[in-house]
Amino acid sequence: QAKKQARGSFRFFGKGANSSVRERLVIGSALREALQKKQLYLAYQPQICALSGALCGVEALSRWHHPTLGVIPPSTFIPIAEETGQIEAIGLWSLEKSCEQITIWEQNAIYVPIVSVNMSAVHFGSLDLPEQIVCILKKYNLAPHRLTIEITESVMMRQDPETTANLTAIRNIGVGLSMDDFGTGFSSLSRLAQIPLTEIKIDRSFIEDFENNISSLVVAEAAINIGKRLGIKVVTEGVEHKEQEIKLQELGCDILQGYLYSKPLTAQDFPRWLAAFPSRWQHSRAHTPPTN
Ligand code: C2E
Ligand code: MG
Ligand code: MG
Ligand code: MG
Repeated sequence: QAKKQARGSFRFFGKGANSSVRERLVIGSALREALQKKQLYLAYQPQICALSGALCGVEALSRWHHPTLGVIPPSTFIPIAEETGQIEAIGLWSLEKSCEQITIWEQNAIYVPIVSVNMSAVHFGSLDLPEQIVCILKKYNLAPHRLTIEITESVMMRQDPETTANLTAIRNIGVGLSMDDFGTGFSSLSRLAQIPLTEIKIDRSFIEDFENNISSLVVAEAAINIGKRLGIKVVTEGVEHKEQEIKLQELGCDILQGYLYSKPLTAQDFPRWLAAFPSRWQHSRAHTPPTN
């Protein structure tokens, strides 16, 4: 059945969160095999500096192409990985792959300043996380500021001592901490100030229809101002149109990410995209008159 559907798309099982127990069992065990057989890979989405137009980083996003089930999106397999005890393995794998990848790019004269890795709230329950991060940074000889960990508001809402200790330890290592999907969860603003964040990422829902939906834009604007007052970077994700880019620049957002610049790219496709990307920074460099 799945094969009859449009090219490799994932239709066989019900949508996302509503998948049945049987579906979760099937995907859960397929995932175990996928991890062993290296069927998972990472796609990298560029992040652009709003002021200079330069590449300032990439976000690593997990991808799974199952040989018979087709493409299974992370919105389906990440929650199942969390339920079936596999999320730490995926977290470690994506950390290691991401660090390896920016090292490989660098060896090929492609400098990506920061790689951002999504980390599940579940992983924060284990006290091994900071040490795992340190080990991987050492292995690839990477400075800690080259790595950012993206957490969701569900991490903020966990008030257990392990999570708090992990957040502090990760910041003390010098690794960045980004609050993903900002504004979509239920955490309080006071908790936000307690967590040693280096960045907030405004969810794309707040800029989706900004010309008609003034109240959403008000939230985005407030979030940008909160970030500024906290002295941390503000990223907006899901930038698809030039008008959104202009508005966000106007509001003082630091970093932009979305299909306007690029979809998430395979490691192989990324250098080609970068070479063709009309970075304003690259232009201004190219037009700098030669010094005598
Ligand atoms: P996220 O971390 O908020 O990632 C952003 C999502 O928005 C990605 O979906 C990305 O492909 C998509 N996106 C980027 N730009 C645009 C745009 O301009 N328009 C639209 N409509 N979408 C855009 P993706 O890759 O399907 O990932 C979904 C979620 O799955 C992620 O949301 C993240 O929460 C989770 N995820 C992905 N990979 C991992 C992983 O390795 N570990 C963990 N724990 N979670 C992951
Ligand atoms: Mg993210
Ligand atoms: Mg997000
Ligand atoms: Mg999201």
